Amino acid sequence: MANLLLSYAEAAEQVNRLIVSRAENESQSAAAESIPLGAALGRVLAEGLRADRDQPPFPRSTRDGFACRAAEANTHQLLFLAGRVRAGESASAPLGSGEVWEIMTGAPVPPGADAVFMVEHAELESNFVRLAPPRSIEAGENIVPQGAEARADDLLLPIGVRLGPAQIALAAQCGSTHLQVAPRPRVAILSTGDELVAVDQVPGPSQIRNSNAPMLAALVLAAGGEPIILPTASDDNDTLDRALGQILDQSLNPIHDPSLNPTIARALTPDLLLMTGGVSAGRFDLVEDALARAGAQFFFTGVAMQPGKPVVFGQIRRTQGSLPFFALPGNPVSSAVTFHLFAAPLLAALMQRADPVPRFALAQFSGTWRGGPGLTRFLPAWCDFEFSPQVRLVPWQGSGDIAAFARCNCLVMIPSTCTELAEGSTVSILLTGCA
Ligand code: AMP
Ligand code: MG
Repeated sequence: MANLLLSYAEAAEQVNRLIVSRAENESQSAAAESIPLGAALGRVLAEGLRADRDQPPFPRSTRDGFACRAAEANTHQLLFLAGRVRAGESASAPLGSGEVWEIMTGAPVPPGADAVFMVEHAELESNFVRLAPPRSIEAGENIVPQGAEARADDLLLPIGVRLGPAQIALAAQCGSTHLQVAPRPRVAILSTGDELVAVDQVPGPSQIRNSNAPMLAALVLAAGGEPIILPTASDDNDTLDRALGQILDQSLNPIHDPSLNPTIARALTPDLLLMTGGVSAGRFDLVEDALARAGAQFFFTGVAMQPGKPVVFGQIRRTQGSLPFFALPGNPVSSAVTFHLFAAPLLAALMQRADPVPRFALAQFSGTWRGGPGLTRFLPAWCDFEFSPQVRLVPWQGSGDIAAFARCNCLVMIPSTCTELAEGSTVSILLTGCA
């Protein structure tokens, strides 16, 4: 089998290439689904959000105070208090000359008024009010004109926006009880390894619990996907062939089994396959060969990086399109790092998410580091985000050290040419929290 060992940059480019070629092949993208606003957090818009009316829908006062004509207020003459307009009401008459209207924050400014002076800046004498000298006010002050934030039918959120609290507020403002979003990509997770037992089992003396499956399921959920955890496969060719055969089973393809309920059929057809374990150079690392027997096309079979070097990426043809897959290294930290770097961007693309994934930031490095050249490193670290980001490496026992990894909130990226990091140098960090 071809040994496709790429640099990190080349590997990232391979993932990008598949993303671009899938985007060109429209038939691969699934239809949008309608969801209630309350369930929209973290979903990706499949239809742009348009303003249903001007925002604000009327000239809105941003202060509690007095709606006036600025030119009149600036004379500091007493002005007649002609009425009061509360939020939710409209003034019953336009502003006459020599008048003010008491107005509350969020209320429509009466026609004829061009400014609002704040109640704190007002002097009252029975039914008359003046702007306290020597203050002055300009026309337009403390008023947001109708339509200044958005005009009716303006595109407020384009396709591809991941919905957070602010975007949900905007949709609510536009009266969208439901939103059209990209379906969650279904991600089949197939762990391999003779030593693995499920989390609710008592491991034998040489066994370990399968921690990758729940970790990857959590990563998939955080990335907006829908994890499907498959039964763990043991390290033998027959089991691996059978497991892959079931995932690729043509009978589960809706086109080939019209009797199958389309919703069920879709649920059974993954958009992405994540395997873990069995991709290193050991005698029982059989995953790559099993993928080859299933007809896989490989884009890379290793990346010059640490951790995560044995990661494999490719796709397998199905009757309907093809199934992209990553065979991630079994070591939990390697699995997580390669998920963040390669699988997360593909998942984002499956939802047509527009913002860049993965997310990097700059931080100031605390401590020192030395190492050999040739590998792009992503080392577990803690970044203190107070004021300006300061990051330090977390001591670890290598890529099997889940305890150390659980004390991290990011990974420090060290380019393959770098052999030393000095105290205070600026480094790129990969953010690994939920995003
Ligand atoms: P492998 O990639 O199969 O050579 O596994 C590398 C290391 O990761 C070994 O120490 C495995 O026991 C461990 N490992 C493999 N799969 C898992 C898993 N699903 N959960 C936790 N550790 C694993
Ligand atoms: Mg193994």
